Amino acid sequence: MKSINEIRSTFTDFFVKAGHRHVASSPLVPANDPTLMFTNAGMVQFKDIFTGKEKRDYLRAATAQKCVRAGGKHNDLDNVGYTARHHTFFEMLGNFSFGDYFKETAIELAWTLITRDFGLPKDKLLVTVYHEDEEAAALWKKIAGLPEDRIIRIATSDNFWAMGDTGPCGPCSEIFFDHGPAIWGGPPGSADQDGDRFIEIWNLVFMQFEQSADGTRVALPKPSIDTGMGLERVSAVLQGVHNNYDTDLFQSLIAASADATNTDPKGPMAASHRVIADHLRASSFLIADGVMPSNEGRGNVLRRIMRRAMRHAQLLGARDPLMYRLVPALIKQMGVAYPELIRAEALVTETLKLEETRFKQTLERGLKLLDDEVEKLGSGQPLPGDVAFRLYDTYGFPLDLTQDALRAKDIAVDVDGFNTAMAHQKAEARKAWAGSGEAATDLVWYELKEEVGASEFLGYETEEAEGKL
Ligand code: ATP
Ligand code: MG
Ligand code: MG
Ligand code: MG
Repeated sequence: MKSINEIRSTFTDFFVKAGHRHVASSPLVPANDPTLMFTNAGMVQFKDIFTGKEKRDYLRAATAQKCVRAGGKHNDLDNVGYTARHHTFFEMLGNFSFGDYFKETAIELAWTLITRDFGLPKDKLLVTVYHEDEEAAALWKKIAGLPEDRIIRIATSDNFWAMGDTGPCGPCSEIFFDHGPAIWGGPPGSADQDGDRFIEIWNLVFMQFEQSADGTRVALPKPSIDTGMGLERVSAVLQGVHNNYDTDLFQSLIAASADATNTDPKGPMAASHRVIADHLRASSFLIADGVMPSNEGRGNVLRRIMRRAMRHAQLLGARDPLMYRLVPALIKQMGVAYPELIRAEALVTETLKLEETRFKQTLERGLKLLDDEVEKLGSGQPLPGDVAFRLYDTYGFPLDLTQDALRAKDIAVDVDGFNTAMAHQKAEARKAWAGSGEAATDLVWYELKEEVGASEFLGYETEEAEGKL
C-alpha cells in the first residue's frame, strides 16, 4: 500500500515524465493577490501566466500545492471533522498547460494516471461535464470508454470555472469515485448528492474562453489547462478507506493526539481527534508561512482555527496545552515534503503554546457560561445572539467555535442577533472614539484601518456579513 508521501511523488513523477516542470508549492499567503485570503488552489501561483501577463520558460507544470479553505470565498471549516472529505488545510495536486496541450491530452493524462499508474477500477469511476461541453463528453467516451450513464451533464457553476468577472474561464469536468452503496449519497447532480458515497477526486478545468466586462465570451487562441486533485481524497481511495482521516498520515496524527490525551482514537471522541489533526496541520503550515494569530484578516482565521482545536482538546480532557506537543508528529509525516515546517518548528511550537496558555482560562470560563445559558433554553430554541456575542467579546470565542460547541446538542445560534450586537458595539466604539477629543489624525487612522481591512480582505468581509466570524 502506498503512503500519502509516495502517492504525492507518483503524481509529480508521472507528469514530469509527460514533459511537465515540477514546480514547488507557493506559500499559503498569495504573493500577488491581496484580495485572496489564502492560496486555495494550485492555479493561484500561475494566475498571471494564464492571463498572459507573465511568461515562464516552461509550458507545462505539475505541483503539489498547499491550500487553505477557511475564511474567504471557499470556507470548509464547518465541514471539518464531520464529512469524510473536507480539510481546512489540504494539498492539491495539479497539472497545468499554459497554451500548450488542451482537452484531449488533459483527459488522456488524467485517465492514464488514475487507471494505469494508480490502478483504480474503471467501473467505480464516473465523470461530470458541463452540459454544453459535448466535446468533453465525446472524449470521455472515446478515451475512457465510459458509458453514457456515467458521463453526467451538469448545468450549474460547479462545472463552469471563471477566474473572476472578467478573464479566462471555461467548462470543467470532474472525476468521482463511487465508494459503494453501503455509504449514503447520490451521484453528482442528484437530489441527495450531499452524502459521501460519490467523492469528487479530480477537477479538470478547460480554460477556453476570455470573458469581457459585458459578459461576452470569445474563444482563446491558445486554450489552457488547470487541474486539481485532493491528495488526501485520492489517497483514501488508494488505501482502500472511505474517510480521508483513515489514511496513513491522518492516522498517525490521530494516534499522537490519542496518546497525548490518553483517550480512544476511535469511538465517541473520534470527531475531536479529526478536528485536532486537521487544525494542527492548518495552524502549523500557516505559522510556518508567516501568519500569526491576531484579531484581523488572516491572523484572525488562524486564531479561530487554533481556538476551535483547543476546545476539542478540552473535550478530550487535556488540562494543559496540547497542540504544541503534536508538532513533532506532524513534522515526522510532512517535514520531508515541506522543509519549511522543520525550519519553523520553534516558532510553530512557541506560537501554539502561547495561544493555548493565554486562551485556556477564558475558554473554561466561557464554556461554563455557555453551559449555564444552554440550561435556560427551551427545546428547539436557539442560543440568543447577545449571548454568542458576549462569548465572543469577553471570552474570545469565535462565533464558529460557539456553533461547533452546540452542534452535538443540535442547538443553533441566532446569527442575526449576533451580528446586530456586533454592529451595535462597533457603532458605540466609533462614537466613543469621535467624542473623546483625540487628535484628528487618530480618527483618520481609525477610519483608514477599517477601510484597509475591508478592501484587503473582501472574502473575509463577506463572511463577516454572514456572521461567520
Ligand atoms: P467539494 O465539492 O467536495 O467541496 P470542490 O468542488 O469545492 O470540492 P475544487 O474547487 O474543484 O473542490 O478543488 C479541486 C479538488 O480539490 C477537489 O476535487 C478535491 O479533490 C480537492 N478539495 C477541495 N476542497 C477540499 C477540502 N476542503 N479538503 C480536501 N480536499 C479538497
Ligand atoms: Mg468545496
Ligand atoms: Mg465540488
Ligand atoms: Mg470541484
